[in-house]
Amino acid sequence: MTSRNVLILPGDGIGPEIVAQAVRVLDKVNEKFALGVTHESALVGGSAYDETGSPLPEATLTKAKAADAILLGAVGGPKWDGLDMSVRPEKGLLGLRSNLDLFSNLRPAILYPQLADASSLKPEIVAGLDILIVRELTGGIYFGQPRGIRTLENGEREGFNTYVYNESEIRRIAHSAFIAARQRGKRVCSIDKSNVLEVTVLWKEIMEEVAKEYPDVELSHMLVDNAAMQLVRAPKQFDVMVTGNMFGDILSDAAAMLTGSIGMLPSASLNAEGRGMYEPCHGSAPDIAGKGIANPLATILSVAMMLRYSLDAKDAADAIEAAVSNVLDQGLRTSDIASEGNKVVGTEEMGNAVLAAL
Ligand code: NAD
Repeated sequence: MTSRNVLILPGDGIGPEIVAQAVRVLDKVNEKFALGVTHESALVGGSAYDETGSPLPEATLTKAKAADAILLGAVGGPKWDGLDMSVRPEKGLLGLRSNLDLFSNLRPAILYPQLADASSLKPEIVAGLDILIVRELTGGIYFGQPRGIRTLENGEREGFNTYVYNESEIRRIAHSAFIAARQRGKRVCSIDKSNVLEVTVLWKEIMEEVAKEYPDVELSHMLVDNAAMQLVRAPKQFDVMVTGNMFGDILSDAAAMLTGSIGMLPSASLNAEGRGMYEPCHGSAPDIAGKGIANPLATILSVAMMLRYSLDAKDAADAIEAAVSNVLDQGLRTSDIASEGNKVVGTEEMGNAVLAAL
């Protein structure tokens, strides 16, 4: 049995509370499925800044580079909002993404049928929703050069950014999407703005080229404005959506909101070797930190994604997802997803229930 090393980064706010429950779940499946996973913890974000003066200490980065996978809680909070940009907690996250070249961001938007009432859309439109958005994370307009704000000859200021993707960047995110689709509904919809932006004309061409290597997966294309409309009109038509950094940023938040419960959504950011960082989609929720009421399920489901995508332990991932569904069937809810008739439980009690279901 090969040993697999997971780095645990609890972070700030509710991070330590929700990660503690996720680690209990990891330990349980590790034992049950004899996975040979070991783990150690390190500092990141505001808590790392407080201890070391850096949101991404050298020791954390070294451990992150050596790990097979990383489980992160969340970073940030009002305590650190006044800090200089270069040492803000978010820099810890961005530093991990760029140093580990985590270019492929996988964000599922799953609406458990038990939670259909939590969505702002009609239950029949969203019940059973299961979309995976694959977002390119390290390129595109967020990183393109040149960028800045300059003063023109007439004295007026002008802001500018560059939207750029090269072929290899598009090719690797395409592979990510097709590989993920093979494990699901075998359909990829590539989102572009090829009627206006040349960079996405190239995007579309490369998607077609890569699709030839995956004859079992169906590829379609959609303009981003239509995709936004279709996501709120008939979201269940999608299986995997693949898109660039900026469109993905916006569409994945919209898709997350379709489920009405950000406390339920996990995410993965992978590099070319399939190593990755796993974290809930939500932030550090400073408003409820320390109260023991945060929903740990997004972090627990992030462990399931980690087992599936980085640790080659599909059975353990399935078991965790089934346990979460079982707990929802029992009517147990943290306050963020509770409605009438539910039993409202705290963070640890929810962790206990998932462990019992496992
Ligand atoms: P947030 O996601 O932390 O919170 C938004 C709302 O959702 C809050 O009302 C919060 O209480 C609730 N919420 C979030 N997660 C929850 C959970 N697991 N259980 C129950 N309720 C939950 O977003 P925000 O308030 O915009 O940001 C707060 C801090 O988090 C900021 O410092 C921000 O920079 C940071 N942030 C970090 C990440 C990250 O670490 N990946 C992502 C987003 C925001």
